[in-house]
Amino acid sequence: VNHSVWQDAAAVTAALATMASDLKQLCATRGINTPLMVGIHTGGVLVAERLHQALALAEPLGHLDISFYRDDFTRIGLHPQVRPSYLPVPIDDRAIILVDDVLQTGRTLRAALNVLFDYGRPASVLLAILVERDGRELPIEPNVVGIRARLATGEQIKLTGADPLVLTKL
Ligand code: 5GP
Ligand code: MG
Repeated sequence: VNHSVWQDAAAVTAALATMASDLKQLCATRGINTPLMVGIHTGGVLVAERLHQALALAEPLGHLDISFYRDDFTRIGLHPQVRPSYLPVPIDDRAIILVDDVLQTGRTLRAALNVLFDYGRPASVLLAILVERDGRELPIEPNVVGIRARLATGEQIKLTGADPLVLTKL
């Protein structure tokens, strides 16, 4: 598979800075002082680590693994992997910021909300997404977006774990 850089380090760094700033603004507007940030395994955790640091949140970052909850993992050929989710504190009545790398159909987010509500009942959930693609199949929309992308159906983008992060197109 040929990987070519789609958004370079400067572009991803700038997108993350915009997201952090937008999240700060949104939390201020809504009177949220201590949001609890939760990344969706694996790409969402990479993005969330950067936002968590930029917002200087005191509590550890949580993460959700939703592989088993996706309703279409057989259709898209993913093999379910079991990794425990981790939420550092009780989520009841907390303002949650869910973070993922790419939003496409919305099915992963639907599943993530299911997992989250297995743990408790948050006061609110905000959604921050690095790359918003077309192709929604469920009524899920992000509150904060880094990059809006027009991609062909077959195109896939991949976040590399390098520091700084880079987005490549497959
Ligand atoms: P959805 O469930 O909204 O269709 O897809 C979102 C999930 O699949 C995200 O967790 C994201 O990591 C992954 N995803 C969807 N499209 C892409 C893509 O083009 N590239 C990558 N790396 N992940 C994608
Ligand atoms: Mg993912």
